[in-house]
Amino acid sequence: MKILVIGGGGREHALVWKLKQSRRVQKILCAPGNGGIADDVECLRVDPGDVRALVELAGNIAPDLTVVGPELPLVNGISDAFAERNWAIVGPSRQAAQLEGSKIFSKEFLLRHGIPTAKMYGAYDSASDAYAALRGMVDPLVIKADGLCAGKGVVLAPDLESARQFLENVMEKNELGPGGRRVLLEETLEGEELSFIILTDGQRYAPLVPTRDHKRVFDGNQGPNTGGMGAYSSDELLPADLRETVISTIVEPTLRGLADEGIAYQGFLYVGLMLTKDGPKVLEFNCRLGDPEAQAIVARMDFDLAEVLADVAAKRLDPTKLAWRRGASACVVLASRGYPGKFEIAKNIDGLTSSAKHTGVEFFHAGTKRERDCLLTSGGRVLGVTAAADSLAAALGLAYRALQEIHFDGMHYRKDIGAPAGHVQAAGD
Ligand code: AMP
Repeated sequence: MKILVIGGGGREHALVWKLKQSRRVQKILCAPGNGGIADDVECLRVDPGDVRALVELAGNIAPDLTVVGPELPLVNGISDAFAERNWAIVGPSRQAAQLEGSKIFSKEFLLRHGIPTAKMYGAYDSASDAYAALRGMVDPLVIKADGLCAGKGVVLAPDLESARQFLENVMEKNELGPGGRRVLLEETLEGEELSFIILTDGQRYAPLVPTRDHKRVFDGNQGPNTGGMGAYSSDELLPADLRETVISTIVEPTLRGLADEGIAYQGFLYVGLMLTKDGPKVLEFNCRLGDPEAQAIVARMDFDLAEVLADVAAKRLDPTKLAWRRGASACVVLASRGYPGKFEIAKNIDGLTSSAKHTGVEFFHAGTKRERDCLLTSGGRVLGVTAAADSLAAALGLAYRALQEIHFDGMHYRKDIGAPAGHVQAAGD
């Protein structure tokens, strides 16, 4: 098989790493990839949001299978463009990707199908209507910009004044661009979050191992939200009875609802959950793997990913093929100074070669680039140090030990990956 992977972050490096292990794979190409992916496979410069350019690229290289990492090409319709040409691709259609591309679409879908989620207070496309509605509400509440906003579209407003301020920023000052023209106001849920991702071919589905990510930039869940500072997966994260509830009250009704509405969903479906005292509720859907969750997930895969993804594209997924390594995995993200705000780049990364001797640890590149003989930082999230082991403590120990050897100016990371929310653990430090 010749496989094209679209995207250029830690998630795509993890996918490439796993796909490369398959005996069925002859060649992998990645568009656009990054400095680390380029060490492993051929990378091609293409804007991953540009469907026309991606179609042209695939027309030239004729992959047997294309795997889409990020949401943007999916929301822009890459899967539809490939389907028209009968090209094999893993990823939902533009319509199905609305589950992520529009928070209002997704909320209305959940409500229509009676799937547990935070109560919707209202959806507004004019600032004056939103301000008027706000006056009758009680805090705290959650405001979500409807469209894709690069992780900046959700605010947990502790009081009505900060809610009003956010509405003004997104609806009047257009600070988040077109994604902020419409907003959704909803109830604040309390509990622990959990990411439950499934792989489906539209008929059958297979759950992946459950994960939890750490969104805040600092230890103890302090500071602003990021794309994710780390993630972990363990068998204990989701007890069997809770897993059953998630499947019967959320996953299956979602897949049934999509099918009933004639929306063919194929690919990864990420269900972001809040485990509330009244049971699991949906916070969000994503139409792809999460990042860094994907890194923790691939570390536990004990099956041929290329074969399974080819099965998904051909609509013959066999869920029994997805076998998992018992135990746990962890991914610790090393980030640039300033991230998630304005961050520094072009810093020299040292120590990766010496850290490579740590067996059981993978260094997935997210924001790196090669310049002559140097490896430089090129993004906010730079590397995902990922390990799997028989227990979470062992996986964390491996990752934290290995990352001690890596250095770049301004490097920072969370020291409490894998710890329960609000609990700071001095892992490996
Ligand atoms: P979303 O993109 O919708 O998942 O929102 C991003 C993050 O905001 C989630 O991972 C949660 O941490 C938080 N969040 C979203 N909706 C709610 C809610 N209704 N109650 C509490 N937290 C929420």
